[in-house]
Amino acid sequence: MAEYGFNTLAVHAGAQPDPATGARATPIYQTTAFVFENSDQAAALFNLQVFGNIYTRLMNPTTAVLEERVAALENGTAGLAAASGHAAQALVFQTIMEPGCEFIAARQLYGGSINQFAHSFAKYDWRVKWADATDPSSFAAAVTDKTRAIFIESIANPGGVISDIEAIAKVAADAGVPLIVDNTLATPYLIKPLEYGADIIVHSATKFLGGHGNSMGGVIVEGGKFDWAKSGNYKTMTDPNPSYHGLRFFETFGDFAFCIATRVMALRDLGPAISPMNAFLIQTGIETLPLRMQRHCDNALKVAKHLATHPKVAWVSYAGLENHPAYALHQKYCPKGAGAVFTFGLKGGYEAGVKLVDNVRLFSHLANIGDTRSLIIHPASTTHRQLSEEDRVKSGAGPDVVRLSIGIEDAADITADLDQALAV
Ligand SMILES: *Cc1c(COP(=O)(O)O)cnc(C)c1O
Repeated sequence: MAEYGFNTLAVHAGAQPDPATGARATPIYQTTAFVFENSDQAAALFNLQVFGNIYTRLMNPTTAVLEERVAALENGTAGLAAASGHAAQALVFQTIMEPGCEFIAARQLYGGSINQFAHSFAKYDWRVKWADATDPSSFAAAVTDKTRAIFIESIANPGGVISDIEAIAKVAADAGVPLIVDNTLATPYLIKPLEYGADIIVHSATKFLGGHGNSMGGVIVEGGKFDWAKSGNYKTMTDPNPSYHGLRFFETFGDFAFCIATRVMALRDLGPAISPMNAFLIQTGIETLPLRMQRHCDNALKVAKHLATHPKVAWVSYAGLENHPAYALHQKYCPKGAGAVFTFGLKGGYEAGVKLVDNVRLFSHLANIGDTRSLIIHPASTTHRQLSEEDRVKSGAGPDVVRLSIGIEDAADITADLDQALAV
């Protein structure tokens, strides 16, 4: 499908009329397992000699459409869905890391990713070293002979920082490690990180891909260009695998080996499979992704400009505003828009933040982004409250900070709601 444009791929990639019934929408294959044709076919499936459906923890025809669609939109070689964005991240690292190894992550990340990396991954002795997303040289400075990957967000939640993907990809390439990009806030409509040298994409499909705040999911996409054999450090990819009769994944599957290995080992053994129902809802959401993302971005710019002139607002951090330090990166990486999520500061600090979220009417006060509806949260009292005060400020979630995820309603209604709540 590579010859089609982005809008066409969003609607069609991965899907075809159902071969069994002619159903035009992809059916929800709500089944745990699939009947084998005969014992020879069953053996071939288990040996990975042929691809096919065995058990929904490993693959499912509804989920396969989602995987192919996101891979096509990101211009990758393969996709793999998981139960959530965090599940996708855990699966990626499960394939890459060994105990005692390190990875470098931008400290400007979704709060949940900071927790996952700093605490849960530490139990496997996977060691995170933090770098500054606004300073590519800080990644180079953190590289050691134990580094196995670099992880960044294309647009960082919650501060709206835009990463210089090309510069950080060069650091990763020089170190011989893959660059993993969380592309949740940008979506491939705004940024395709593989085009700038990223190797693996992860998504929380819970957010803009699904887009309607109704289902959890995650997707991994592989770029297919990383040489897993060169350093000898990625044993899961290169060494004979005891659970598949000595199969070597990279040698056998080449430019889609990462997704296969992650599916048949990490997903098989850790088990966070997406439900076919959620895969269906998310792929339906993706059909309107280009339309929604443009409206999200256009509305966000209007709201950011409005807030920038409001007397109770101290500052607005939106890369779409000309005075933002990432404005040049916005023009380079995502000229169609700087995303829908941004932060602003209230002159009244913590108290004013809590009061604002208690008085909005159109906005929903909740811990999510990427819904059709406009959403608001005060990170210091919610998503980032587990972090130390110092880490909160470093990750862009100080006491006066309010985060918005601008929906696709009328921009005038969104700004009017903020005005009335700020006036209380
Ligand atoms: C929400 C989010 C995640 C985690 O995804 P879940 O689907 O909630 O597990 C990871 N990264 C970013 C940028 C997010 O916004």
